[in-house]
Amino acid sequence: MHREHHPPHDVQLCSLLSVKTGGCPEDCAYCSQSSRYDTGLEKQRMMKTPEVLEAAGRAKAAGATRFCMGAAWREVKDGPAFDEVLEMVRGVRALGMEACCTLGMLSEPQAKKLADAGLTAYNHNLDTSRSFYGSVISTRTYDDRLRTLEVVRKAGITVCSGGIIGMGESIDDRCAMLATLANLDPQPESVPVNALAPMPGTPLGDRAPVDPLELVRMIATARILIPKARVRLSAGRLALSRESQVLCFLAGANSIFYGEKLLTTGNPDVEADQSLLRAVGMRAAPIEMVTE
Ligand code: SF4
Repeated sequence: MHREHHPPHDVQLCSLLSVKTGGCPEDCAYCSQSSRYDTGLEKQRMMKTPEVLEAAGRAKAAGATRFCMGAAWREVKDGPAFDEVLEMVRGVRALGMEACCTLGMLSEPQAKKLADAGLTAYNHNLDTSRSFYGSVISTRTYDDRLRTLEVVRKAGITVCSGGIIGMGESIDDRCAMLATLANLDPQPESVPVNALAPMPGTPLGDRAPVDPLELVRMIATARILIPKARVRLSAGRLALSRESQVLCFLAGANSIFYGEKLLTTGNPDVEADQSLLRAVGMRAAPIEMVTE
């Protein structure tokens, strides 16, 4: 399935920057940025556009083609902070990179503004199945999630949506989440598959690590159900051996987060990633989506 729809050696390199870290009012049980848990994470002020564009320029020079910006918000509020994000999106596009944001829930006019600024993709994860969702998050509903995905799609922005395994969900929950994503019409262009990176102080901070083969299986299932999407091997990669990562690529992963930091979790460094890609004959995929 993978080879039918994608050049098998290509891997998309995305860099992710947290432009506003911590102090989030939501209660996602896996997240160190929720203000409800004592995780030792320091809340940081919103970054300014020039700092963000400097980071984007560095990511581009290191080989990334997509730059993702995350803000720990429940939802976007109109005003100077959102205007600044729009400025960042325009700046990233002007660098010749794809721009992606993850900012929480969005209204239709806000999605339209992001689209007008040139946003390539919007990330909004379903996280898990509808039935397990309430065990992980109580401050918003599955339908809220799906509604935001609809708003994004309507605005003409591509959809990036996936989830996390290792939170105590069953195999059926994993399948149900993939089925929900696969039944979106059109299907998401990008599906991040995360293994829980347990963060001390969060309700899921003591969970045992996921067996890498479960991640491989999840990626393979995502690849079969959502054949045209970029399946992104996301959080949890730091805990994987090189061999497990290669198995993920063979199973259909063709995108990685690239760079030292993944929001507030560690990520393998650029050097290690380049050497892994060279060792298995993979190469960075060229930029593919231009929305303007
Ligand atoms: S995952 Fe996002 S919405 Fe949930 S607590 Fe963390 S920053 Fe907030």
